[in-house]
Amino acid sequence: MEKIIDEKRQGETLVFKASQNNSRKLFIESYGCQMNFSDSEIVASILANEGFKTTQKLEEADLVLVNTCSIRDKAEQTIRKRLEKYNAVKRINPGMKVGVLGCMAERLKSKFLEEEKIVDLVVGPDAYKDLPNLIKEVDDGRDAVNVILSKDETYGDISPVRLGGNGVTAFVSITRGCDNMCTFCVVPFTRGRERSRDPHSILQEINDLNEKGYKEITLLGQNVDSYLWYGGGLKKNFKNASEIQKATATNFSQLLDMVALAQPKMRIRFSTSNPQDMTEEVLYIMAKHKNICDYIHLPVQSGSTRILKEMNRQHTREEYIAQINRIREILPDCSISQDIITGFPTETEEDHKDTLSLMDYVKYDYGYMFAYSERPGTLAARKIKDDVPEEIKKRRLAEIVSLQREHCAFRTESFVGKTLEVLIEKESKKSDQHWAGRTSQNTVAVFPKENYKIGDFVIVKISDCTSATLIGEGVWYSENN
Ligand code: SAM
Repeated sequence: MEKIIDEKRQGETLVFKASQNNSRKLFIESYGCQMNFSDSEIVASILANEGFKTTQKLEEADLVLVNTCSIRDKAEQTIRKRLEKYNAVKRINPGMKVGVLGCMAERLKSKFLEEEKIVDLVVGPDAYKDLPNLIKEVDDGRDAVNVILSKDETYGDISPVRLGGNGVTAFVSITRGCDNMCTFCVVPFTRGRERSRDPHSILQEINDLNEKGYKEITLLGQNVDSYLWYGGGLKKNFKNASEIQKATATNFSQLLDMVALAQPKMRIRFSTSNPQDMTEEVLYIMAKHKNICDYIHLPVQSGSTRILKEMNRQHTREEYIAQINRIREILPDCSISQDIITGFPTETEEDHKDTLSLMDYVKYDYGYMFAYSERPGTLAARKIKDDVPEEIKKRRLAEIVSLQREHCAFRTESFVGKTLEVLIEKESKKSDQHWAGRTSQNTVAVFPKENYKIGDFVIVKISDCTSATLIGEGVWYSENN
């Protein structure tokens, strides 16, 4: 399922075959959100052209790259620990060079080189095309840094290397950066201002994935609903665009329509949606196309209007509920997931209860819940004291996690007895006799393998479930094959 932070993928290394012999060995691993995993595929593609060959053995690497996350302090601590590990390996392999990519590189910039002696290379999310030059600098014995954020870089012209995945599902990045300025969030500072990618390059990438046998794509961005292509440039500069640019601009619902029409047999998902930007047109486009999955990830962060205002979320509790009601009206079978932050500064017991009651109202299918972690440089860090004690944050987090578990079980159970289309992604972790895949609603389903294979769309009769997994039997291929 699409998780914002997919714990199973943390630290995953990417492997591809190099185009040249005698190539240098690259070890690249990724932490954090889907955007980082997608970016690592772009980096892998850029370095494959430079003749690098990947390895999963850290000990034999000439170059180690770690794509980092800054969203919470814990994420940064994980990276610091990895650097210690690289340091130990460097004692055996002193020629090994170490580069830090992504959000933590952008946040700390050249400070990284002072704080972590092992680091040779620091590259922010908009500077990956400069990697070949930066690596040359490092080869010549100099440390290299490029953390320049761009107004128009979307990597639309780079075809990402896909060999790290299952060959069935892929991410396609459609926007970069974020303009929301939520007071808790470091993303606008680490990934820059929001810009959208040319729809033609998006369609080209999706058509190419289809030709390679992929069956499902997830359109990716910090705030996909805010997508706006008007010929390139920052979203915030759209107001200065020419009349012709404005008249011919493409918004998210139009993009979704184009993608769904271009590949009617591919499943389409998208993430993340921001409540204030999700339009009714998007819901109608979802209802219009069978191949757009019945699933919306709609972070709420808090159920209290007062806290939402402190977070600079652009909606109230009531507006969010109205949005949920519209989704249920237009897309009655749609599953919905959330992100919630607990223990944001000044959060009272009353605010916390508002979050619990909102959860009770929506009964989310899944959720990703976090204790507030103050991030240096954000508006909240500058303006509001992190005053909710750790043990209260922990207790409130445990309460929302436990409630979410109940709701997840309730939603999963509601599918028992139904017949649903499942796209097979891999073998079940628990049994080599079963396949695992997901329904349109993004719920994991397992069923006996029979003669089906990975990448097949199968109609599955659901007979049982655990708290988050559906169990059933394949009836026949769906007409989508
Ligand atoms: N762009 C999306 C949005 O704003 O809804 C997701 C951004 S972020 C990569 C994923 C999630 O991390 C957020 O939805 C939020 O719940 C959580 N998060 C962000 N900053 C945080 C912080 N300072 N402390 C704890 N959780 C945080």
